[in-house]
Amino acid sequence: MGKRLGSLFLLASLPSSLMAQADPVPVQIAAEAPNGEQVQIRLAFKKSIQVEAVGLPKRFTDGTAASGWVTYEHLSPEAKHWVLESVFPDDEWADDGIRHRVRWPELESVWLMASLFSGHGQNYDQLQQANPGNPEKLRKGDVWVIPRNLLSIDLGGVVRGVVDRSQPEDDLDDEAKVAAYRALLAFGEDRQGRYASYHLRKGEALYSSVVMRYTDRVEPKDVTDIALEIAKRSGIADVRGIQPGQLVKIPVKYLADPFQPEGSRALKEERDIREEVRRTPHISAGPKLRGVRIVLDAGHGGVDTGAIAGDVWESDYVYDIAMRVRRILEQDTEATVSSTIRYPTFGFSVRDNIVRPTRSAEILTTPPFANDGDSPNAVSVHLRWVLANDLFASFARKGDVKKTLFISFHADALHPSARGTMVYVPGAAGVPASFTLSPSRGKGVSEMKRGGRVVFTDKERLQSEARSRLFAEGLLKALKSGQIPVHDDRPIRNIIHRAGKNFIPAVIRYSSAATKILVEVANLTNEDDAVNIKDPDFRERYAEALVKGIRAYYRL
Ligand SMILES: [Zn+2]
Repeated sequence: MGKRLGSLFLLASLPSSLMAQADPVPVQIAAEAPNGEQVQIRLAFKKSIQVEAVGLPKRFTDGTAASGWVTYEHLSPEAKHWVLESVFPDDEWADDGIRHRVRWPELESVWLMASLFSGHGQNYDQLQQANPGNPEKLRKGDVWVIPRNLLSIDLGGVVRGVVDRSQPEDDLDDEAKVAAYRALLAFGEDRQGRYASYHLRKGEALYSSVVMRYTDRVEPKDVTDIALEIAKRSGIADVRGIQPGQLVKIPVKYLADPFQPEGSRALKEERDIREEVRRTPHISAGPKLRGVRIVLDAGHGGVDTGAIAGDVWESDYVYDIAMRVRRILEQDTEATVSSTIRYPTFGFSVRDNIVRPTRSAEILTTPPFANDGDSPNAVSVHLRWVLANDLFASFARKGDVKKTLFISFHADALHPSARGTMVYVPGAAGVPASFTLSPSRGKGVSEMKRGGRVVFTDKERLQSEARSRLFAEGLLKALKSGQIPVHDDRPIRNIIHRAGKNFIPAVIRYSSAATKILVEVANLTNEDDAVNIKDPDFRERYAEALVKGIRAYYRL
């Protein structure tokens, strides 16, 4: 196929948002189409490849656009082939797959490669698994192999959209699912110590189906490190060739509590909590949520934008979802609703357009306290629970303490192959028997004079986790029926592992609410999730589904 590369030039730089970093500048090239016409092709950050319709042979598109720019997915198989060869002239196309050489490291991503070559970005983890030695952060000249079994049908491969990774346990409830996952493990010991062995099934990747499911790790670096360690431990020299049936050995020290060996303390705690969940009585308030006291906590805000990935950041988006939940609860129910945080510029209103991070946010204590982030020295992260507990304490003087609910809204930046909502509940074993916030923190705050100290009995900690798990379970069901993506493997977790540390976020660890969760609504580094959270309709649907989940929990 004849092709000639035109001159490369940079487009005018995008208007830089108020974010610290601006998006990388797109590239545009002129390439010769088979009909001899010069056609413009451009590659923009997170926007994939687009081709100018002018001059493009008719048979090259599906007819959706006769002018303007045609996006890659609307190109014919022949056109896709031509475009890829034009944009990536150094790639080698062979019978067993494509050897892709990274040419624009600032604009390319593993997601983009998966989307161009396999037909969907969600095949990211499969692609990464096929290239174990390559860092996720692309470098110019790196060679990524797209094996034939990952190529899209359009490129002569076998993959239709997302690699099928459905498994028999997908529709089970949390307890049954975890039990089913456990049943797939076998324990053994070799010279390097004890391990749990697992046979990878069709469509499963080491990153998601082993590391994220069995070890509680979800942070990109943690996941990659442990995946490589497991590959090495399992004697897998070339992760590229992992086939269904491959046996992997997971060192016991990395296993999450529910997967620890028989006789371990972690497994006993896990069973105790499951039993507690089963005997936890239902709390009734009716569809109007009469007598229910709810405190909504939108994470981060002000000086603290939270997680950032590309052009999306955490604070304003989760604040908006919390505001939508607040509005629906106030309109449609009799629940008493409060917020822990307020953006003075917008008050409690919802916003369809979010343009830049809001720089001012205050915790609604008396007097209000400017949000100072969530660093170890920050005060506001603690004032959130101090304030919420104060509201619950005054409610308890007249109301039923069992009808108190605390929800903290966040979005995370996990391994990009993970997608959807994940819910954290306060694991009983990780909550201390008592905690006192030093009175020097939050000086002058009325709620601190009345509170700042929590005491929990063993029974209370167990009940807290059990109720929160019950709520989380119903919530995920409501989200799923509202077509909201939920994490594949274990969407309910009771501890966070990050960079070698285990912890429960303070807002739920010290909350006196009967039921409390921290919900990570989306994974900002997953490109599908990022598109969702930027969409106001998605945020509205999310809020509606979440309120449905609250109502289901307090059903008649
Ligand atoms: Zn957060």
